[in-house]
Amino acid sequence: PVRTRFAPSPTGYLHIGGARTALFSWAYARRHGGQFILRIEDTDVARSTPEAVQAILDGMAWLELTHDEGPFYQMQRMDRYREVIQQMLAAGTAYYCYTSREELDALRAEQDARKEKPRYDGRWRPEVGKTLPTPPAGVPPVIRFRNPTDGVVAWDDAVKGRIEIANAELDDLIIARADGTPTYNFCVCVDDWDMGITHVIRGDDHVNNTPRQINILQALGAEVPIYGHLSMILGDDGAKLSKRHGAVSVMQYDEDGFLKEAVINYLARLGWSHGDDEIFTREQFVEWFDLDHITASAAQFNTEKLLWLNQHYMKQLPAVELAAHIKRRLSARNVDSDTGPSLEKAVALYVDRCNTLNVLADAVEVFYTTVTPSAELLAQHLTEETRPALADFAAGIAEVTWEIPAIAALIKETIARHGLKMPKLAMPLRAILVGQTQTPSVDAVIELIGRDRVLAALKKYL
Ligand code: GLU
Repeated sequence: PVRTRFAPSPTGYLHIGGARTALFSWAYARRHGGQFILRIEDTDVARSTPEAVQAILDGMAWLELTHDEGPFYQMQRMDRYREVIQQMLAAGTAYYCYTSREELDALRAEQDARKEKPRYDGRWRPEVGKTLPTPPAGVPPVIRFRNPTDGVVAWDDAVKGRIEIANAELDDLIIARADGTPTYNFCVCVDDWDMGITHVIRGDDHVNNTPRQINILQALGAEVPIYGHLSMILGDDGAKLSKRHGAVSVMQYDEDGFLKEAVINYLARLGWSHGDDEIFTREQFVEWFDLDHITASAAQFNTEKLLWLNQHYMKQLPAVELAAHIKRRLSARNVDSDTGPSLEKAVALYVDRCNTLNVLADAVEVFYTTVTPSAELLAQHLTEETRPALADFAAGIAEVTWEIPAIAALIKETIARHGLKMPKLAMPLRAILVGQTQTPSVDAVIELIGRDRVLAALKKYL
């Protein structure tokens, strides 16, 4: 059975890159009827916070990336790591090292002078026929992994293809610090082993850890999972993703008026493709997702495309649901959308011109607040030329059948009678009714607002 995991370090929000990693791991498990495990890698106590844990959980919940097991917390697994370390010491795959900071510094200086890569020289590494120094009194040792010295460590990366590293390049990694705390790479191995992880999908900033982790897993007699390292995500401008474009919390997208369906669809296409398909549901994604079609090159974030997808999903929503989203956003601004024109009708009328829920809420807010057109706008549109036509129109409005075609016909008759062009009537009407001149078809806006309110507004300004 497939078992994947998402293993964030709770040092910040769940951002776009993390969410994409989580999505791919989640989808792979779902695709294969397997399990998706959430593991919080909180061993960096100085940088991990409960708020960040919560932010990650919130982000996953919003995107509905539900886990089957966990969340597991590494800080709660310390006894288990210590136990495995003891087993490794007993098996001889790990050893105590008493090299002091000063000795390591001296070693490093020598290596620097010889222009060599800094690496531990194995002075405490037990070898057949080698006599180890006597442990200095009162020096707490670190524990190192006994990395193989020859051969290569290789894996077929599901994204990057075959990767091989000579063991000679890897030195003996510290797996427990002098104070006994296990180190990051070691905990990951024990966890992936204990949790039976079959596929590790993670960012390629971890690709250098993989050979070390494979060696440790092999020393533990554990099955080595399949690794797939996702390339990084670049911003719109081709630079590394920053706060400006996507390195913010995924919850910021919620706040900014993006639908989770759009964000999921967008993330799915960020470094993975299914032919030319751009728009697909979460269910289709799960059905289609495979590791073969993940691109090895960096993916580029494209805000325009996200906005386009968002509008697509907004338009797809039934008007009741779209209205519910907008009602929540209006209430958050203390705007009551229960009195006034039908919100369902209003959002249906405006959705074609809005690509986020916030922009849509901005657009329809005028129907639920008192509109005060600026004096400048009124002066521009309420002129000697347009006033008689407006008065005439107001009279007609009082008795017209309240349907868009009838209102449209009334507008046409009025302008014909006064020898005006359409904007000469439509613009002042817009100014009076909604305080702005950019609106959908004025007949539909009038129909939406309702006879009484239209008449009241016309009366007020004529
Ligand atoms: N905790 C690591 C991170 O947040 C992920 C480690 C892993 O997936 O192996 O970058």
